[in-house]
Amino acid sequence: MANPFDLTGRVALVTGANTGLGQGIAIALAQAGADIVAVGRTLPADTEAAVAVAGRRLLWVEASLETIVPVSGIVERAVAEFGGIDILVNNAGTIRRNDSLDFSEEDWDAVMDVNLKSVFFLSQAVARWWVANQRGGKIINIASMLSFQGGIRVPSYTASKSGVLGITRLLANEWAAKGINVNAIAPGYFSTNNTEALRNDEARNRSILERIPAGHWGKPEDIGGAAVFLASAAADYVHGAVLPVDGGWLAR
Ligand code: NAP
Repeated sequence: MANPFDLTGRVALVTGANTGLGQGIAIALAQAGADIVAVGRTLPADTEAAVAVAGRRLLWVEASLETIVPVSGIVERAVAEFGGIDILVNNAGTIRRNDSLDFSEEDWDAVMDVNLKSVFFLSQAVARWWVANQRGGKIINIASMLSFQGGIRVPSYTASKSGVLGITRLLANEWAAKGINVNAIAPGYFSTNNTEALRNDEARNRSILERIPAGHWGKPEDIGGAAVFLASAAADYVHGAVLPVDGGWLAR
């Protein structure tokens, strides 16, 4: 019987694949058979090496996702190099921390533009290509525990990640009948650059660990399996879902 998780011959566009969760996801997708279009502003050298070990190719498309200016060029480059796109992982994200009483417009816009605006318009550009070419595909958005909870001192991050869950559901409603699966992964607390400030704060680190049933922070390699599942034929009837990968955090 064919392996329903096999991604051989697929092309996966992953934003922010140079480090952290995006790197873990890109490597897992490559190990399942996909070639990778890594979109971001930093050369993904380590990811490229790991993708090569898996026997797959990686194309780096240099782009900063603070604006949607690069969006159409990203799709063109991917299609020119690999002939198409099958999977889009909207992973790139940023965070700004400050008390809400002091939070600036700049910190609001910087996070919303990368975490929400670019996610929507990159999804739109890829979906337009799929519809124009009478194909379907898989979109995987990276949500957060702050898609469900309020958090503290990260107002634009909470707004953006709550929005990511909302547009995941909205796009699933609009595009499911077109053969496009839109789903989200909600990571719990993972050791990456994004959470360095939390881990360096002894009290916050302890209180976070106390609430995680698994008893430890997630590692980037813990997230890849969920992405492979949602990118694969095994998830063809999964639409508008959010899959927590959180060591049990939400069950607490
Ligand atoms: P990370 O190590 O800080 O990685 C963030 C990635 O996003 C990097 O590749 C970064 O590129 C890229 N990025 C940020 N701003 C960008 C911009 N303007 N243009 C293009 N790329 C940009 O953090 P991470 O934890 O792996 O985060 C990945 C995703 O998971 C984010 O959406 C984050 O919100 C989400 N998440 C993380 C956790 C966690 O516990 N770590 C939990 C829930 C959700 P550079 O390296 O060039 O900056």
